[in-house]
Amino acid sequence: MNNSNLRPRLRLLATGGTIAGAQTSGDGRGYTAGAFSIADLVAAVPQIAALAELTVEQVARIGSQDMNEGVWRQLAGRAQAALDDPGIAGVVITHGTDTMEETGYFLNLVLKTAKPVVLVGAMRPATAISADGPMNLYNAVAVAAAPESAGRGVLVVANDEIHFAREVAKTNTTQVGTFKSPNRGLAGLIHSGRLHYFGPTVRRHTAASEFAPLAAGGLPRVDIVYAHAGMGRELIDAAVSAGARGVVIAGVGDGNMPAAALAACTAAARAGVAVVRSSRTGGGLVERNIEVDDDAAGFVSAEELNPQKARVLLMLGLGRTREAGALQELFRVY
Ligand code: GLU
Repeated sequence: MNNSNLRPRLRLLATGGTIAGAQTSGDGRGYTAGAFSIADLVAAVPQIAALAELTVEQVARIGSQDMNEGVWRQLAGRAQAALDDPGIAGVVITHGTDTMEETGYFLNLVLKTAKPVVLVGAMRPATAISADGPMNLYNAVAVAAAPESAGRGVLVVANDEIHFAREVAKTNTTQVGTFKSPNRGLAGLIHSGRLHYFGPTVRRHTAASEFAPLAAGGLPRVDIVYAHAGMGRELIDAAVSAGARGVVIAGVGDGNMPAAALAACTAAARAGVAVVRSSRTGGGLVERNIEVDDDAAGFVSAEELNPQKARVLLMLGLGRTREAGALQELFRVY
């Protein structure tokens, strides 16, 4: 029996990354990200053909450390075009793992769709012993092909796990279990293509997002400044001088920073620059008005968003408002 016309049609958008990486020497450590085309990657996993009918498109061929607004816009445009096609059931995006959480959260906010959108990467290059890319890609296609994946926002699949784009973070430099969702936990598990969802995501996304579909025009500059013992004010002042419309502080502990940095942030907020306090800890929630008087200073707390995700939301939010209270509301909703 030929079931080919019963398979869902998916669009596979490729951006590069280690999943498409080739080792540069036999020792397995050095490699070039994005060396293989998406057609090579799909051909390496013939079992995918039983899950879905794929049409593939190479959007970029970069290590995700080089991901930027230009590629995000191109990717969002190509993904939205595919999602708007009634014949396409979902989208899979291959991506480097370094900045996957930022791209995932960005797309989670700017794609107008209820269809599944799944980002997938790998920690080991395609030529490595026990490469993780082929199973990750197989599982990502299975997730995108499943009707039960619809309406959950953008998902990240790796290492037999399904993560919500809002929750996921890369937590380890090289190990295959790098992705964790520290606050709210996994979206689900996937075992050789079989899905088990644990629950829905709670924050607003995709079809319900006010930032979707992505508006034309550039995003404002938002810089991240990392706090530490002995931190001064200079880098915050430098960000403002460089034209930042927003500054995210990767604060110590509960989004704290030394007095000199706090003074620079207070001056920046007074000058109309949005200041968002996040945390460098990797988990937990930055609340308002604990050790810092956010109300008096006009700051915004990032709640659970890590600094790199807070930056994404702030860039989009600044297109709507520069008022601290309204920006804070966005951090409560998204
Ligand atoms: N720097 C590469 C990237 O993000 C390596 C990480 C990976 O893909 O696993 O594209």
